[in-house]
Amino acid sequence: MRRIRPDEVARARRDPRLLDAYEYRNEIKGHYRMSGDDWLRRGNCADADPEVMFPEPREPVDDALRLCASCPVRTPCLVRALEARDRHGIWGATAPRERRAMIEAWKDINPLAVGA
Ligand code: SF4
Repeated sequence: MRRIRPDEVARARRDPRLLDAYEYRNEIKGHYRMSGDDWLRRGNCADADPEVMFPEPREPVDDALRLCASCPVRTPCLVRALEARDRHGIWGATAPRERRAMIEAWKDINPLAVGA
């Protein structure tokens, strides 16, 4: 697995999806529960083929990202993935590689994240 470059992490820090996740995480901090994934059942991918949401490396991710684009729980989904440092599959409209960069940025801006 190729290492994440510093410029990718720097770009991730400015990514509006990450900034939304950070804001959301701060708003709900005391109420967030990793196990309370009711929101996941409201996601656009609730009935999707798992192979779409967890593509093999180098497989296209466009179908999954299309589902995420209009998903009503996109931000909590990304928060969950960042806090769990989940590097696999599509979460919160992010592909694995870009999320790996976001996870590095998340450690800096949110050192109390689960697993830190
Ligand atoms: S943002 Fe994407 S991965 Fe997350 S629940 Fe919605 S459709 Fe599924």
